[in-house]
Formats: sequence, C-alpha cells, structure tokens
Amino acid sequence: MKLDDYDKEEQFAASVVSSTRMTEERSDAEIREIVLEIDRDMAYAPGQSIGIPIPGPHPQGHDVHFRLYSVADTAPSEPGDKPRLTIAVRRVNYIDEYSGERYDGIASNYLCDLKPGDTITITGPYGYAFEIPEDKTANLLLIGMGTGIAPFRAFVKHLYRDAPDWQGKLRLFFGAHTGLEHVYMNDRRDDFALYYDRETFEAFKAVSPRPGWSDPIAWDYCLEERSEEILEMLDDPKTHVYLAGLEEVRDELDKVFANLMGSTEKWQRRRAELAAGGRWAELLY
Ligand SMILES: Cc1cc2nc3c(=O)[nH]c(=O)nc-3n(C[C@H](O)[C@H](O)[C@H](O)COP(=O)(O)OP(=O)(O)OC[C@H]3O[C@@H](n4cnc5c(N)ncnc54)[C@H](O)[C@@H]3O)c2cc1C
Repeated sequence: MKLDDYDKEEQFAASVVSSTRMTEERSDAEIREIVLEIDRDMAYAPGQSIGIPIPGPHPQGHDVHFRLYSVADTAPSEPGDKPRLTIAVRRVNYIDEYSGERYDGIASNYLCDLKPGDTITITGPYGYAFEIPEDKTANLLLIGMGTGIAPFRAFVKHLYRDAPDWQGKLRLFFGAHTGLEHVYMNDRRDDFALYYDRETFEAFKAVSPRPGWSDPIAWDYCLEERSEEILEMLDDPKTHVYLAGLEEVRDELDKVFANLMGSTEKWQRRRAELAAGGRWAELLY
C-alpha cells in the first residue's frame, strides 16, 4: 500500500516521555528508542506500525511528510494510565551521488531530535499484528535486520508474558552491518537476556563480514551454521516464520534458504506453503 493511501483521519496527540540513544556513541548508526505517552486509548500490537504525519512545507514541496514506525514495546498500563508506546528510530542521512551533499531524512531526524515533553501527532495503528499461534508447541523462527529487531522485542516480550509456559522453540536471528548496530543486544543493554535461561529461547547475531561496507549481512554463516535445526523447523508443519526490517532481508533469505534446502524451487514451494497456511508474517520496508 502506498503511504498516501493510509487512513490518517484519526489523529492522536503523543508526548515524548524519553529519547535514548541505543547504539554506542562511536557507532555511525544512530538509533534512538523513543517512548511516547498517548493522550487517549489506542490499541496496538507487535507487528503493527504507527504513522507520523509531519506538517510542511517541506523542501520537496509536499504539505505533509508521512512515515511509518513499528511498535517496539507494548507495556501494559495500569487502569487510568495513559497508554505508552515505544518506537526505535534510525536517523537517516543521504549523500547525493552527484553533488556529494548530505541530506537528512525528514521524519527520522524530526523524531530523533525530539526532547522529553515535546508533543507530536501520531496515527494508526496499521498493518497486521504478529499473531502468537494458539498451539503453544508451535516453533517460531524470527529473522530481522537493523530496526527490524524492534517488533521482535515487543513480540517476544508479549509472547512470554501472555504464554509463560510456551513449549515450542523460539529462534531469533538478528543481523546488523556492524556489532555496534546491535540495538537491544549490545554491551550496554541486552533486552533479550531476560529470556536466555528459557529452554525454548535462543538468539543469534549476524554481522557484516566487512564492517563499514554495505555488504549483505552474514546471514549465510549464521543460518548455515545452524542449518540442521533450521531445516528441521522448516519441515515441521507447526513452524511459523516472521521477518522484519529492510526489504533486502527477504531477498537475502531467499538465497540462503534456497541454498539450505538444495534448490530455489524447493524453497519457493516451502515458502508458499508457509504463506498459504498463515505461517509466514513479514513487516518489511
Ligand atoms: C511498515 C514500516 C515500518 C517501519 N518501521 C521503522 C522502524 O521501526 N524504525 C525506523 O527507523 N524506520 C522504520 N521504517 C522506515 C521509516 O518509515 C522511514 O522510511 C525512514 O525513517 C526514512 O524516513 P525519513 O522521512 O527520515 O526520510 P525521507 O525524508 O523520506 O528520505 C528517505 C527517502 O528519500 C530519498 N532521499 C531523501 N533525500 C534524498 C537526497 N538528497 N537524494 C536522494 N534521495 C534522497 C531516499 O532515497 C529515501 O528513499 C518503517 C517503514 C515501514 C514502511
């Protein structure tokens, strides 16, 4: 769906509770965790996104600049509390190929520059929630990249909170271009550490083989190293696959999984089965 087609009629006022840099200072990538308090009830779930309409005029001549950000946390609030929503935003800059000038992405810079107490407008939520399968023995394969980890953080938390006796395997594969981009899983903070002692949970990090280069993430090593278990999971009719992050994740995974399964046809067939059975969910951008 095109961004112009999203329904932006219902708008909510949200005030900034906090804005914290999640990537290390020495990392070029600035990703911030922004906690918002919404003025009234808004029901949202992991896997969904909210909209940020920024009134213009903007340099490209458009009146409203509208972008989407995934729900990164869904803390339950006490009755009477205003709902709180967390997003993880990467500050985006572009170097123009011809002029060499640097341009700042409008929405991401607007959000990353917010200070506690500032008020913004949000819309949504949009998209399908990442559903938790009813069968507690189902296996979940979560694969994300960059800020694509954000919906998984919300999802894993939601899952172990609502289904503490989850029995199926939960495997999280998360890629970044450098170790410094590992939001939620770096030296300073590890939001998934809470789940490491659960027998069902394992998380794996993949980084680019040449940090600083825009090479694809080393999915192949990370996934191939665990190929036996992944193939077993993909063969199991109870396995659900979730993808999140930049669209390139899907193409990279297609290659890796085609390789793991022995041919592109085999993987395409399996992917179609997963999708047809409602066992394939993606939040890609
Ligand atoms: C469903 C969904 C969920 C998302 N979730 C997240 C999330 O959780 N976290 C997150 O950080 N992002 C997320 N995004 C991405 C986010 O919506 C924005 O696209 C991103 O932040 C960039 O927006 P911006 O306004 O900062 O940049 P923009 O101002 O829109 O600039 C980005 C675009 O304009 C082009 N551009 C801009 N300036 C130039 C220039 N000078 N020369 C050439 N090209 C230029 C770029 O090619 C690029 O396509 C999500 C997107 C979708 C669709």
